Amino acid sequence: MILVAFGTRPEIIKLFPVIHELKHRSIPHKILFTGQHLDLYEDVRTLVPDPDFSFTEILSRPGKDNTLGESYHKICGAAEGLFRDIPFETVLVQGDTTTALAIAQMAFYNNIGVAHVEAGLRTFDMGNPYPEELNRTLISRIAEINFAPTRQAVHNLVREDAKNIHLVGNTIVDAVNHFKQKMAWRPKSSNKVLVTLHRRENHVVMDRLFDEVQNIAVTNTDLDFIWPLHPNPHVQKHRKRLSAPNIRIVEPVGYPEMLELINEVCFIITDSGGIQEEATCLNKKVLVAREKTERTETIDIGLGRLVGRTISASVPWARIAPPPLSESPYGDGDAANKIVAILSGEEKRGADT
Ligand code: UDP
Repeated sequence: MILVAFGTRPEIIKLFPVIHELKHRSIPHKILFTGQHLDLYEDVRTLVPDPDFSFTEILSRPGKDNTLGESYHKICGAAEGLFRDIPFETVLVQGDTTTALAIAQMAFYNNIGVAHVEAGLRTFDMGNPYPEELNRTLISRIAEINFAPTRQAVHNLVREDAKNIHLVGNTIVDAVNHFKQKMAWRPKSSNKVLVTLHRRENHVVMDRLFDEVQNIAVTNTDLDFIWPLHPNPHVQKHRKRLSAPNIRIVEPVGYPEMLELINEVCFIITDSGGIQEEATCLNKKVLVAREKTERTETIDIGLGRLVGRTISASVPWARIAPPPLSESPYGDGDAANKIVAILSGEEKRGADT
């Protein structure tokens, strides 16, 4: 029996193709939702079946966020109980969240194998992204199977002596393709600019980033800025800094709507990891408002620029349409199929790098 564990919006988005594939092949599995991001769960819950296990009551703290330590501690405690009761053969975790680390560690303590989706992303800077660089590095030490999304990720894992490394691509490509086909999109471009900013390490400079976007909007009146504002209070408290009439603040949007937006914008300003990849899949330029990125592939192929806090200087570059994308550096959209083939033993579990 495989347990698929997630606790946040990006984990659900990147795991739903794998869950669909497990179901499609009738491979026994159960689903755990830790409730780490309860406020964003409603926006993506329809992508996955209802969970078999949930820690939401343990994590829920109405009106107040858990600290990193509180989330970690609560998830560990609840997972320990679950793993004592049910001897899962494998636990599948994704990415670098507190959920992924806590579940991986508790699985390890209970002699349950850990398989890690999107393994090997690194900036080699523990402060950027924080605390994700530490989380994913520790998970790679624990994991018995590492599903790497890119050649660079494989390289990073080999250097760290990680076990059973498989280059499978990133499941985000599967997720994007799923909706592309379902909704029969064509490539589009408009005068819209998508903005999302929420990263923990940017909280201390969030005021400056908001002012940058406000100034860009004032000096580019032909562009319309659409900004699904993250519910985190460290982000929300700055919304009054935005007064330009061409900035539209909206609630977080559902995933298909988000992809439609990305598909039609002129360019994107973001500090999100997943949106850098989605922008690449849909051939959009992206200004990455971070000091470091682990998605260097987007920068390397000329679709992204790492701008830190100085976003405005790169706007003229972002406004120039990119050439057609020949091949995605994040894979061909077959990652879930490859992951499930390996998990089910259809393909050998040995190193495949
Ligand atoms: N996303 C969404 N609606 C929104 C904002 C983001 O569906 O209003 C999606 C986005 O397309 C991406 C994921 O959420 O797939 C990114 O999540 P987030 O930015 O929270 O985390 P990160 O990617 O930095 O881990």
